[in-house]
Amino acid sequence: MTNKIYYQDAYIQSLTAEIHHQQKDEEGRHYAVLDQTIFYPTGGGQPHDTGRLNGVKVYGVEEVDGEIRHYTEKEVHAPDGAAECEIDWGRRYDHMQQHAGQHLLSAVMEELLDMKTTSFHLGKETVTIDLDADSLTTDMMDRAEKAANRIILQNHPIETKWVTAEEASSYPLRKQLEATENIRLVIIHGCDYSGCGGTHPRSTGEIASIKLLKWERQRKQVRLEFVCGNRVLKQLGEKHSVIQELTQVMNRPADQLVAEAKQLLEEKKALQAKLDAAEEELLEVEAESMIDAAAEGNELIHQSYTDRSIQTLQQLARMITAKDPESLVFLTAENGEQLQFVTARGKDREEDLKKATQLIFSLIEGKGGGKPDFIQGGGKNIMSGAELAKAFMQSLK
Ligand SMILES: [Zn+2]
Repeated sequence: MTNKIYYQDAYIQSLTAEIHHQQKDEEGRHYAVLDQTIFYPTGGGQPHDTGRLNGVKVYGVEEVDGEIRHYTEKEVHAPDGAAECEIDWGRRYDHMQQHAGQHLLSAVMEELLDMKTTSFHLGKETVTIDLDADSLTTDMMDRAEKAANRIILQNHPIETKWVTAEEASSYPLRKQLEATENIRLVIIHGCDYSGCGGTHPRSTGEIASIKLLKWERQRKQVRLEFVCGNRVLKQLGEKHSVIQELTQVMNRPADQLVAEAKQLLEEKKALQAKLDAAEEELLEVEAESMIDAAAEGNELIHQSYTDRSIQTLQQLARMITAKDPESLVFLTAENGEQLQFVTARGKDREEDLKKATQLIFSLIEGKGGGKPDFIQGGGKNIMSGAELAKAFMQSLK
């Protein structure tokens, strides 16, 4: 059994250990097992540590069948069997701050709002807890955040203790214990008593601060996202730089950005409506001129386009057949790899376009659908629009 030094003192950053053995797992990954370790393995919602063994990078630490495996990039060179261990302290200390902050916030949510925490996830950027609740209000979040930050400032000691089940039962535990022996309690005096196997700082002051970010509904629970410690500053820095850039782009002070953005969106909507109306007018003119051109003896109104949406072709075909009940329309568009088309007839004609298009679908290995007087579809761009129109006229006869 590896001696878990991180339980005796979570602040030890380096240590010399004996390598018990090294080997590869089923997936061919190198790992080392030590007589004692400062590396925390993944567990209890807290991610594993990273670091080095004799300078070789440790990228993962997992407890497998009671054995703590230090996954290394390659075999660790250790002629005398000793390994100089070093953990990435920035990463570990961040985990300690977030984990302690989670205990604190869970205790506050229960004390203040009677919401129980059911799970906890320590992510790369933020931390979440799932709460047994339907919803949160801004006021609730403000109150909880203030209460948690007050406890941080009061700098309560955080103590860990190994107890028996009987001893544990004398504490006001926040959650029912999962273990029945070798129980480790993490105690924030006067605030929280929890069974926990994670690493924590010595006092709440080291959490530094906590900021609640947002909540969302997750299944039938509330998922609350927050950050502690240096992550608060990181969040502030990132958000501040976005706002700084926005104040320059929009040429407005920060407190006017929201109003300005709303106004811009309103204007955009109004402009879009104007543009749509203008485009429709243009299409009407286009439809008229196509009808006029066809009046000079062409039975079929045909036009080939490139990069024109099938929606526009449909709109155009509808306009023409509405204006001229005797018209027959066949419009094509080469859109990248596709050859798309729309065909339509006015209500004074009787051709079944569904039948007539069966043949041309086979010509372009395509498909489509519609009604006997209006069909749209497409296939491979393997012939010109004019050739397709010609084939359509033949199959119509
Ligand atoms: Zn914990």
